[in-house]
Amino acid sequence: MRWALIGASTIADGPMVGAIRAQGGTVGWIVSGSQARAQDFAARHGGQATTEMDRALADPTVGAVYISSTNEKHFPQAMAAIAAGKAVLCEKPLAMTVDQAAIMVRAAADKGVTFATNHHLRCAGSHRAIKALIDAGRIGRILSVRVHHAVFLPPVLQGWRISAPEAGGGVIADITVHDADTVRFHLGEDPVAVVAQATVSGLGQGVEDSCMSVWSMPSGAQVFAHESFTHAHAGTGIEFHGTEGSILARNVMTQRPVGEIELVTSRGREAIGFAAADLYTTGLGAFLEAVAGRGRPAADGVDGLKSLAVAAAVRQAATTGLRTQVAYAGF
Ligand code: NDP
Repeated sequence: MRWALIGASTIADGPMVGAIRAQGGTVGWIVSGSQARAQDFAARHGGQATTEMDRALADPTVGAVYISSTNEKHFPQAMAAIAAGKAVLCEKPLAMTVDQAAIMVRAAADKGVTFATNHHLRCAGSHRAIKALIDAGRIGRILSVRVHHAVFLPPVLQGWRISAPEAGGGVIADITVHDADTVRFHLGEDPVAVVAQATVSGLGQGVEDSCMSVWSMPSGAQVFAHESFTHAHAGTGIEFHGTEGSILARNVMTQRPVGEIELVTSRGREAIGFAAADLYTTGLGAFLEAVAGRGRPAADGVDGLKSLAVAAAVRQAATTGLRTQVAYAGF
């Protein structure tokens, strides 16, 4: 697959170029707002450098577009790529609003192109092992989920994320969307309503850098989610508590194939092993299979819309102090 990368971003520069190569693909174009940044990127990874997205989209040898610009650009860039008939892998959050995401999903369906969201956690061996335990009924009916996703934002990323609401900054747009997708992946149901509080705890300049929320699920399960940019030593984790047991997973809300999983039941404690494949390579592989007409992406456009809808509800709940219904724009 020959790719056009839109956004000379940190994630494109590292994990995603690595995943493209691992799947046998090449960088055809790198599109940036800065010609110098595009050239610098192309010097490292190959491809033609441009500031004009239309040039890359007009190239008939480009089959797929990966969008990893700042969040406010995802909508117009994805719409242009879809209109050009390219398969699109878009970063989360898909857009600034759920309505925009709905337009993207419908446009891709009308055009008949693959449209996917780069939610990497459902590609982790750890999360697939957890889901297998849940699906096999090993912990019975799920009563509650606790998501610990409070990290310290590396200095290199302390730019628009902590200072630019107009670019989609803030921890809710950045991390709550991942937690929403991960919980949806495991439970197979969509949050109905949320309560939330957000705050600034050391890094945010005009945006929240920490958030706690509680979501109610159709099954009656309760979900507690904690996201932050300011917690240097907390580590991450996810816990599922059911009528027959609990799954305790540490260090699994991460970009790397690491962590520990423990199943606790009346029979005792059991360490659960899992595959250590690269998350982004796995996700890209599923995307390429979907483009080839085999199966679906790990997370499709509707998954991206729904994770954004949960984040939007959390933001609204934190702003108003009110219990807020999650609105999925008809999806
Ligand atoms: P970066 O801040 O590294 O890059 C975002 C944009 O900032 C780039 O597209 C680029 O704009 C611009 N930029 C990059 N470096 C500079 C610089 N030195 N000076 C000025 N501008 C610069 O963001 P991330 O890579 O962390 O995130 C990009 C997207 O990917 C976001 O939507 C984020 O949510 C998502 N993401 C997803 C992850 C996942 O696991 N799914 C993990 C990390 C991020 P230009 O487009 O003009 O080149």
